[in-house]
Order: sequence, then C-alpha cells, then structure tokens
Amino acid sequence: MRLLSNAVSTVKGVGEKLAEDLAAMHILTVDDLLHYFPYKYDVYEIKPLSELIHDDKVTIEGRVVSEPSLTFYGRKKSRLSFTVEVENIAVKAVMFNRAFAKKQINKDDIFTLTGKWDAHRLQITVSNYKKGEAERDKTINPVYSVRGNVTNFKLKKVIKNAISQYGEHIHEMLPQGYLSNYKLPNRRNAIKTMHFPPDRIYLKHARRRFIYEEFLLFQLKMQMLRKQIREQTIGNAQLFDAEKTKAFIESFPFRLTQAQHKALTQILHDMKSPYRMNRLLQGDVGSGKTAVAAICLYAAVTAGKQGALMVPTEILAEQHFQSLTELFGGKANIALLTGSVKGKRRKEILQAVENHDVHIVIGTHALIQEDVYFDDLGTVIVDEQHRFGVNQRRELRDKGLDPDVLFMTATPIPRTLAITAFGDMDVSVIDEMPAGRKEIDTYWVKENMLERVLQFIQKRLANGEQAYVICPLIEESDKLDIQNAVDLYDQLTDYFQSNTNVGLMHGRLPADEKESIMKQFTENDIQILVSTTVVEVGVNVPNATVMLIYDADRFGLAQLHQLRGRVGRGDQQSYCILISDPKGEVGKERMRIMTETNNGFELAEKDLQLRGPGDFFGKKQSGIPEFQVADMIHDYRALEQARKDAEEIIALNLLEEDETYHSLQKIIENDLSLTEKLD
Ligand code: ADP
Ligand code: MG
Repeated sequence: MRLLSNAVSTVKGVGEKLAEDLAAMHILTVDDLLHYFPYKYDVYEIKPLSELIHDDKVTIEGRVVSEPSLTFYGRKKSRLSFTVEVENIAVKAVMFNRAFAKKQINKDDIFTLTGKWDAHRLQITVSNYKKGEAERDKTINPVYSVRGNVTNFKLKKVIKNAISQYGEHIHEMLPQGYLSNYKLPNRRNAIKTMHFPPDRIYLKHARRRFIYEEFLLFQLKMQMLRKQIREQTIGNAQLFDAEKTKAFIESFPFRLTQAQHKALTQILHDMKSPYRMNRLLQGDVGSGKTAVAAICLYAAVTAGKQGALMVPTEILAEQHFQSLTELFGGKANIALLTGSVKGKRRKEILQAVENHDVHIVIGTHALIQEDVYFDDLGTVIVDEQHRFGVNQRRELRDKGLDPDVLFMTATPIPRTLAITAFGDMDVSVIDEMPAGRKEIDTYWVKENMLERVLQFIQKRLANGEQAYVICPLIEESDKLDIQNAVDLYDQLTDYFQSNTNVGLMHGRLPADEKESIMKQFTENDIQILVSTTVVEVGVNVPNATVMLIYDADRFGLAQLHQLRGRVGRGDQQSYCILISDPKGEVGKERMRIMTETNNGFELAEKDLQLRGPGDFFGKKQSGIPEFQVADMIHDYRALEQARKDAEEIIALNLLEEDETYHSLQKIIENDLSLTEKLD
C-alpha cells in the first residue's frame, strides 16, 4: 500500500541522513514533503533594457564583446568584469569572487545573466550566469526554504520522485462543484504545479486553489467550534429581570447611543439563551463599552447570578471599581480583588464571593487564576481582550465554570481580522460616539519644534488643564525605556519649574506608588504625567487635554490611537502631538493618517494594510493563524468567499448529509480532535 502518510524515507533518494535533515524541517511523511511548497519563485524573464528597474533583480541576455578582466584585492577577493552587448547597447557585467569563471567566458559567447541592475551605469552585478540563451519556457524557478544539508536541488529531486511514486494517491477533498465554480485545478495537479510550474498562469491557479482550500478549512473549523459552543446547552440561561434592568439604564445621567443599545440587546439575548455566550464587543475608546458592561453585570445580578469584570491592570481595576460602585449605588455588592488585596481582607472577600454575599467582583487576571470560588458565576467580562491572550475560556473551564463570556476591546479590529482571528466568536460593534464629543486635534512635528510644543503645553496648563507625556521607546528593553522616562522627567521638571508638578510613571514602580501617582494626577496635584506606555488603557482623567508622544513612529497606529484616547474625555478641546522623524515612506504615511482621522476602525484598516497582520496586535498575542500559501490581506476576497461557503456548509449540515463532502468532513473532524487534545 502506498499511502501519503508513509514515512518520507520511502521516497526514492531519501536515505537515512536526508530523512533526518528533513525531519528537522518538520517533513516526516510523504504528505509533508508534497506540501512543502516553495516560499518564493524566482522568475527569469527577459525584458527590454528600457523596462528594467534600477536596483531590481533582473535577467538579461547578451553577447560577450570584451575579454573578461580579473582583478584581485584583499585576501582572496576578486572582481571579474566584462562587457556584453544587449540590444546593440554595451552593458557592463561584474562578478565578485568567481575568478574561476574567467575561463568560461569568451568573446562572442552568448550569456544569460541574472543579478542586480544599476540603471545609471548600465551595469549588472551578476549573481547567476549561464552560457547560452535563456530557456524561454523554463523561466520560473521555485525556491524552498532549506536547512542544514538539504539544498534546493536535493529537495526538488526527492519531491519529483515523491510525485511519481505517490502522485496517484493524491486525492481531491473539495467537492467537484467548488472546483468548477471557481475554476480551480484538482489537488494532484495543483501540487505538481506548485513544485514544477510550467508557466505563470498554471502557477497562479494552483496557488488560488490552495489559498481557497486553506481559508475554507480554517473557516469550517472555526464555525464548527462556534456551533459546538452554541450547542452545548449547559443551561446557563440567565433569566434577568427586564424591568429592573430598564430602570437601571434610566438611572444613568445620559441616554444610551443607538449603537450601545444595539450591542446591549445582542448581549442580553445571548445571556438569556441557554447556550454559552462567546462574544466580542468592539468599540473605540470612549464609545461607552464600560457602560454597556455595567448593565450586563447588573442584569446578571437580577438573574440571581454573579458577575466578574477582568481588566489588565490594577489601576484600571480600581478605576472601574470606583465608577461601578457609584453607578450601582447599592444595587449590588461589589468587591475589588487584585494582587494588592492581601491577608485578612482578601480572605474575607474570597469567603463573600463563595457565599454569594458579593455579586460582582472586579479585578485583574488573578481573578480567575487563583483560588477564587464563585457560588454561581453567570457572566464574565474581559476588558482589553487582546492583552490577556486567547486562553481565557480554557482557564475558566478548568475551574469547572462555564459562564457567558464577553470580551471587550478598544483596539478596533479590522473586519478582515475579526472574521479570521475571531471566527469562533460573535461580534458586536459600537461604532458611534456619544453626542457632543469634541474631535481631538492631532499634530505631527519633528523634534526641532519641541520648544514650541512645550510653550503650547505651558499655555494649556495656565488654563488649568493637564498633560500626558509619553516617553521615547527603545525596542525590547524595559530598562532603557525607564531610563528614558527618568531623563525626560528631569528635563521637564527643569523646564516647567516650580509652579508645575511633574509626575513619573513606569511599569517597574511598586503598585502602591503607581496608584498614588495616578491619584495625584486625577486630583490635579500633578499637572504633567511623564510615562511609559503603562497609561495606555482605560485610564480616565477628563481634565487632561494634551497627549504628547515622543518617537511616535515606533508605536503601532492602534497603540497611538489608544494613547490618544486618554485625552478628549472632558468638555475641553484636546490635542495629540506626535513627535517623530520617520525615515521611510510608510512611517511618514502612518503619521499622516494619525493626523487625518480620529476613527479607530479606519485607522486599523490602514495600519493593517501598511504593516500586515503580525505587527497589528504584536506577534505573540495575535492569535492570528498562519497560512502557508494564503495571505489574509492580499487574498481578502477569497477569504470572504470561503467564509460564505463555510457558513452555507455548516448551516445546511452538508458535511454530515452530503456524500461529496465526506473527505472534507474527515479532515475537519481530525483537526478538531487534534485541537481538543492539545487543549
Ligand atoms: P469605553 O469603555 O468604551 O472607553 P466608557 O464606557 O468608559 O467608554 O465611556 C466613556 C465616558 O462616556 C464615560 O464617562 C461614560 O460615563 C460616558 N458615556 C458612556 N455612554 C454614554 C452616552 N451614551 N452618552 C453620554 N456619555 C456616555
Ligand atoms: Mg473602558
């Protein structure tokens, strides 16, 4: 039996040694080998000289018109140069450290040369050369990522053998209908083409096939998971008191916006139904998510359940604790549980949570990690979702809890990412700001304008307002960042003299010191708060009207937007000033975008286009799947199509009920059970 799951060593030409090297590249089976696609294709296409682009890698074909001359320099270094005639024009060819080539290159020979093109000097720095004319029909050269003793040449050879030995065992898994609808090649042909593309057109279609396949499988898996979550009716229907909830909303000093109302309705509907809510609530900074969260927590309490609100920092936990305590005005017992709550006090709170004397607990991550036992936890709200990573639900489940979970984020997630990274969640969006908010004015300046910026801040301070100053950022080095903060703090203390209090805040300060500084800033005992990015999320000081950010181009747009959201929270006009001098066009474009829009969703889309999904959330926390061939941004339309198709397949239960979907079903089931095991 020849099965694709056979060990790769069954392929002709794969000995023990090579098998070991391949294993290091995660190629264990024949199937792995067949799916080890090139990461790029070098295209040797001969174009007219006039179309060659300066600094590009190009291929030209010409006749040698001068004997090559060889010069040596340094130790063992050499430079070989000769002239070739291309389209009746003399082009200089240069090769480094290939003295041996001198013998091979003779006057009147025709050569195909590939290398970097210098359009000003009409010169090519050769990286690859071949005697004779270019092979017109073999101009696409697959390039694999290889390691150790494995070379591109070896890999190609064994892949070729694998295809001839096992080719007929490559079976289709997509139903025929999709192939003909989208004009996709079948699996066997597509695999062959990926490794040995006869021309560009074939390659394009083979790639299209795998892009679609990857997206469809991914979407099917996500949507299956979502369906499973929905179907696990463990009976946590929270039958809240609609009248009381309504009265609670009416007690607010404002009316909910339409967007808040809509999101609330969706969430309450989930809470009431027996399936477990798994919902993402997105909304720009200040759009009123926390207000919605408070209502949901209250609704849970009226249903006789408990609620928990998790936030990323202690400062935030305290702020939320204060504002919710005020808002609830005694309608529920609320407790604060953070790392700073210790000893006897902590014991008392834990006891009260277990007895259900406490209805709502607000705290940091510790809330679910440590031995906190709830009597009947109905709703968990997680603020700034991406900061926690993606494993929250699992941790809760491990504690035997299956509450409704609402994730909130102020980082607007572009739709593109929302449907991929969070494909297993329902999404609500608050895309409207409460009325009467003033737009924040954003300016981008170079560092030589600093003096004027500081004068401007002085004016705002004279008007009784306050300012944040965010420090220069040094990548990956917490220590140096803190040094920067300290230096800046000294400078500004000097500059503003005695009538202004400057405060310093960074991540290494002990919690109680952080708290005391934040308190002083809130109470306007400190007018200028110099800080690393720890103030990024949630902090609310309405009297602060200036956000000055050093080295702004080092931050992601999403993060800059978060920082900017710290001002503009009161009635006064607010300002965001970005100091930066980015070198590249992309950097400049990003600064420009910041000055042009206050809309977080628009920013997010642009940032994503400029930097790609990896940078968007920061690599580690992204939770965004990696695809082998597909690219979420570039292949967005295929992604949309795959999502629609997956929805239809799940809705009509085709995996189970339609025979032509059985191969697909097997793969999905396999993958899902694998995920379970890894859980
Ligand atoms: P987010 O959590 O989305 O950043 P918050 O819920 O903290 O936003 O709301 C920001 C501010 O706006 C708070 O002071 C809040 O009281 C107020 N607010 C919330 N919703 C409204 C509304 N519909 N109308 C007016 N003000 C509102
Ligand atoms: Mg908030």
